[in-house]
Amino acid sequence: MHEASLAQGLLDLVLNSLEEYNRNHPDQRGGKIKEIVCGAGLFAGFEDFTLRSCFELFAEGTVCEGADLKIDLVPLDCVCRRCGEKFRLSKRPFRCSNCGGDDMDFKGGAGLTLLAINVDSEDERNHD
Ligand SMILES: [Zn+2]
Repeated sequence: MHEASLAQGLLDLVLNSLEEYNRNHPDQRGGKIKEIVCGAGLFAGFEDFTLRSCFELFAEGTVCEGADLKIDLVPLDCVCRRCGEKFRLSKRPFRCSNCGGDDMDFKGGAGLTLLAINVDSEDERNHD
């Protein structure tokens, strides 16, 4: 399942980022993940609900368990091959905003990008 590998990849990314953060900030280690913000390309092609379900499943027992998953659509940067117009697309139809042509160059648009992680610090949790 496509969503399963996306969810697993995202989880790995978040856990690695937290590990790196903790290595660089030994005095203010991050504890549990509160919120994960990621960007989805226009061609990422996943089912939102399925992705969330997979993520919840994989996140069980990790610091990501119960984290809020926010998925923002990332507009696609396009250049029209006919008139040279530069524009950004965030939905279909894929047409040039200037001449209406559908022959264009674009970059990216696939997969998920991790944008931000909000962490509960261990200090706050263990406050006494
Ligand atoms: Zn055009």
